[in-house]
Amino acid sequence: TLQSTDVSALLARWETERPADEAIRFEGVTRTWAELADRVRRVAGALRAAGLVPGDRVAVLDLNHPSCLELTLACAQIGTANAVVNFRLAPPEIVYVINDAKARILFVGPEFAGAVAGVRDKLPGVERVIHVGGEQDEYEAWLAAQEPDPQVHPSRPDDCFVQLYTSGTTGFPKGAMLTHRGMLAHSANVAEDFELSPSDVVQVAMPLFHVGGTSYALLALYGGARMVMARTPDPAAVLDMLERERITHTFLVPALMAAMTQVPGAAERDFSSLRALSYGASPMPLPVMRACLELFPDRMHQVYGMTEACGVVSSLGPQDHSDPAVAHRLISAGTPIHGVQIEIRDPGTGEALPTGEPGEIWVRTEQLMAGYFGKSDATAAAITLDGWLRSGDGGHMDADGYIYVTDRIKDMIISGGENIYPAEIERVLAEHPSVADVAVIGVPDERWGEVPKAVVVAAPGQTVDEAALLAYCRENLASFKCPKSVDVLDELPRNPTGKILKKDLRKPYWEGRDRTVV
Ligand code: ATP
Repeated sequence: TLQSTDVSALLARWETERPADEAIRFEGVTRTWAELADRVRRVAGALRAAGLVPGDRVAVLDLNHPSCLELTLACAQIGTANAVVNFRLAPPEIVYVINDAKARILFVGPEFAGAVAGVRDKLPGVERVIHVGGEQDEYEAWLAAQEPDPQVHPSRPDDCFVQLYTSGTTGFPKGAMLTHRGMLAHSANVAEDFELSPSDVVQVAMPLFHVGGTSYALLALYGGARMVMARTPDPAAVLDMLERERITHTFLVPALMAAMTQVPGAAERDFSSLRALSYGASPMPLPVMRACLELFPDRMHQVYGMTEACGVVSSLGPQDHSDPAVAHRLISAGTPIHGVQIEIRDPGTGEALPTGEPGEIWVRTEQLMAGYFGKSDATAAAITLDGWLRSGDGGHMDADGYIYVTDRIKDMIISGGENIYPAEIERVLAEHPSVADVAVIGVPDERWGEVPKAVVVAAPGQTVDEAALLAYCRENLASFKCPKSVDVLDELPRNPTGKILKKDLRKPYWEGRDRTVV
């Protein structure tokens, strides 16, 4: 394993040791390590020529494309950083993120050229827009015009390597500055479980703006494995790629996997090359889990993590997915991975809590971000002086050290002084045959302060009977936890990784009122 704390050294290593081996494959184009390294040096040269200096940012707004990774690596070589923008955001949010990052050059994919043109006057800090791919492509000519720049800015371990934004389920997105040290520690810690080698093939299916996309690209780079990148996380295309490219490692999110299990003929495909299918970023509904275990037996790794920690902090391995003696662990997020400490703390006082007691999940590891870009108060609120990240997630740890992620602390419902964890109610409702999807939120109540409400989507061909559903809850849950009402929607609002946007669901009920825990 590599001792360096500079990500650029990884690329240099594979270029020297295995120049002609395949590094990256994307839509029929394959590049070797030598080619990738050469392109990165040209991009670095072009960025220097454009006047970028250490500490500056560029931004990428595009579906997955190798140029995003080239830019991330090139920025690192000159001491700047790539801020990758969530392309699912609405135009005002995109403007917010690009301005927040103070990006000087914006790289834009063809699908977003129109949107950017429409808000161009709201991006005064952007000196230049460069189109990537499609008919308007300027990127290839831009880098071809440049001599490769061999200088590598000597980065320090805590320099920002890449800036990724939190998904903003709880407020405005914040730019987490992920460091060289953090990214390398993450790759090394995750690789402990996988024994990744240059003969492996890593699928990068999730968007690069998400830590699950970028950290998997880095994992491939760390192991010298070939990466195969998908432009979009399309369920059928991701399945095809797993089989055709003989993928050995991938990371997917539950919402995508749910759709994959529905692709006709999925069960007849050959996924024998796949050694590790990691999934996480949002809770995995048990029915989807069961379908996935049939499709990919013995290879499922649940991972729990967050942008602020470069990705994974705990994992539940294949053994715990298949052993009936520990079936209760299927709803846990496993144990801390190598190099990560996890404790359950009282979110108010910060005191460590005894085994089994619910509190906030705190994380300490070298993987932690340097902070949120330009937001020292938010950074100080997130990371304690002795280096613990407050995850904002509620949960508990059992006597065997398994972590159970229950809810975002902010989603917890306090009803008549009792703490109610929506996830527990959601799990019960998800098992009801008339329910396809469910979220439980707190709504105002004269007597109890707030009470749980279920928001459900009907299963195909079913109608939701409110009275029957509430009666079912009363059979399965303590009465104070039972929802008092049910809303039926066609679809729940979700962010791209599948997290339900509870703040949107709560909003109409809390308009003009003060929720103590919002
Ligand atoms: P914001 O802080 O802006 O609301 P976010 O927390 O959603 O954004 P991310 O870093 O993308 O930003 O997501 C991390 C969160 O995702 C975790 O804190 C946790 O709530 C959830 N999560 C991740 N993995 C899992 C998992 N395996 N099971 C349940 N929840 C998970």
